[in-house]
Amino acid sequence: MYEGAVQDLIDELGRLPGVGPKSAQRIAFHLLAAESADVGRLVAALQRVQAEVRFCSTCYNVAEGEQCRICRDPRRADDVICVVEEPKDVVAIERTREFRGRYHVLGGAISPIEGVGPDDLRVKELMTRLMNGAVTELIIATDPNLEGEATAAYLARLVGPLGLAVSRLASGLPVGGDLEYADEVTLGRAFEGRRRIDA
Ligand SMILES: [Zn+2]
Repeated sequence: MYEGAVQDLIDELGRLPGVGPKSAQRIAFHLLAAESADVGRLVAALQRVQAEVRFCSTCYNVAEGEQCRICRDPRRADDVICVVEEPKDVVAIERTREFRGRYHVLGGAISPIEGVGPDDLRVKELMTRLMNGAVTELIIATDPNLEGEATAAYLARLVGPLGLAVSRLASGLPVGGDLEYADEVTLGRAFEGRRRIDA
């Protein structure tokens, strides 16, 4: 449609999640007209994220360095782990200020339709952490949709024999939605009102 570099940019932008062909075109032309300093900052941010950011070796949240900010924080409780699907869910829960324990980021949810099973997620890594014995409570905060519920049920069954207190966020979250779209108050309440799962 366009020549060379512009079309390449539109194609690359169009591969990003949630960016359709129209948005890709709009962003490309915005960048084309932008100040070179603005574009430079965007390029630098992309390069930095590639070079410096990786996944925390303990919880798989995004981290600059070996461990993330939360795993490095000595003031946080070691006896409770909150399981989430993605690093963005950590951010959503942190905003509520309801949780002072540690996290475990699965890297997705079980989805037979998309061919994602437990082995594709960081379930083994979670079990290793739980076997270490310091953890007494597990809060499952997967998304309130089909995949999230399936994942929560699977995890509850799996960790059942360990004898931990296992809970799931209370209802009130928009069903079928994504944790990150819940407002802080709703998510905070869901956290406070979490229900024990008896496996
Ligand atoms: Zn971490």
